Amino acid sequence: MEENSKIYDVIIIGGGTTGLFTAFYCGMRDMTTKIIESDSRLGGKVAKFLPEKMIYDIGGIPKITGDNLLAQMEEQAYMHQPKIVYNEWIEEVTKNEDGIFSLASTEGTVHLAKTVIVATGTGRFDPVQPDLANISMYTDKTHHYTMHNPQQYAGKQVMLNSNTRIGIDWALTLESIAEKVYLVNSKKTFQHAADVELERLRDSSVIVKLNSDLQQLHGEDGWLESITIKSKDVEERIKVDHLLTYNGLKMNQTPFDNWGLETDSNRVVVDHQMATNIDGIFAAGDATAYPGKTMLIASGYTEGLTAVNSAKKYINPKAPAQVYSTVIYRK
Ligand SMILES: Cc1cc2nc3c(=O)[nH]c(=O)nc-3n(C[C@H](O)[C@H](O)[C@H](O)COP(=O)(O)OP(=O)(O)OC[C@H]3O[C@@H](n4cnc5c(N)ncnc54)[C@H](O)[C@@H]3O)c2cc1C
Repeated sequence: MEENSKIYDVIIIGGGTTGLFTAFYCGMRDMTTKIIESDSRLGGKVAKFLPEKMIYDIGGIPKITGDNLLAQMEEQAYMHQPKIVYNEWIEEVTKNEDGIFSLASTEGTVHLAKTVIVATGTGRFDPVQPDLANISMYTDKTHHYTMHNPQQYAGKQVMLNSNTRIGIDWALTLESIAEKVYLVNSKKTFQHAADVELERLRDSSVIVKLNSDLQQLHGEDGWLESITIKSKDVEERIKVDHLLTYNGLKMNQTPFDNWGLETDSNRVVVDHQMATNIDGIFAAGDATAYPGKTMLIASGYTEGLTAVNSAKKYINPKAPAQVYSTVIYRK
């Protein structure tokens, strides 16, 4: 195992909305900070589930899409230049005899810190990959698992593949943007779809193909040109510029038990200071369990700053309980 010898004041595990705001606040408290995120991008559930959705319940922001919220949160987090590590899954957390925490990733690195803030949610969600040859060649170029920035599909022929209401949601969003929208469903119904959504789909210009499967992708260097779909024994080759697929998500559970943390229903039990059962490890956001806990973005912000203030006190008991940004930043 390779050891990163720098000892940070705080390592935040998880770079979702909670981890990002927590990192910003660590900077405000003058703490050296590292975020370790198992994904190749920041944003957690907001990036995976809500990139194009309008969010209304963040104080001071009447409405904002998930993607735009994340852009602002990243800008805020980068203000104090935290170290950000991508694509590493923390498997083990150990407190050494000298009180320093060693965090070992499955990728073979050991990270060191005086305190740890767990901002992992309950784990990482990965999309279920369609069973299609060469799909990875197109992924992130013309095949996508989420609908970031709908305007990128303006004037394009888009095929959506989903058996759930998410496919309908995407189709209705793209109908007025894309040149043509196909919605391919291997079943004859859409899981979890409300009658009103089905009605809107029927009234739309979306071309719906039920009982149909994706058979083959055609294109070059990641650029899709067409897709063959099959319904019963009939094959049809359709010109397509982009493919979006949603076939559910699989969860990789964060191994809290391995880390020695007390849990309740797979979430980390914390007290009012966001302290866990291990001295020096704090938690915030969807990862936590306490009476009255709500699974909301804004709850993660408050819990994050409480966790940071507690971590600061843990390192330096004489530090003030909190600080004001209006006092720290004078312009
Ligand atoms: C469909 C849906 C709609 C929602 N709508 C709203 C809404 O309108 N308003 C609202 O306020 N909230 C909403 N929420 C809730 C909101 O998305 C969550 O409360 C918020 O995203 C939690 O953020 P988090 O950072 O605590 O956790 P997450 O977003 O889950 O982020 C955790 C991060 O930790 C990483 N991670 C996990 N384990 C490890 C590990 N071992 N090593 C390294 N990295 C790890 C994960 O990859 C992930 O990026 C919604 C949620 C869903 C699913």
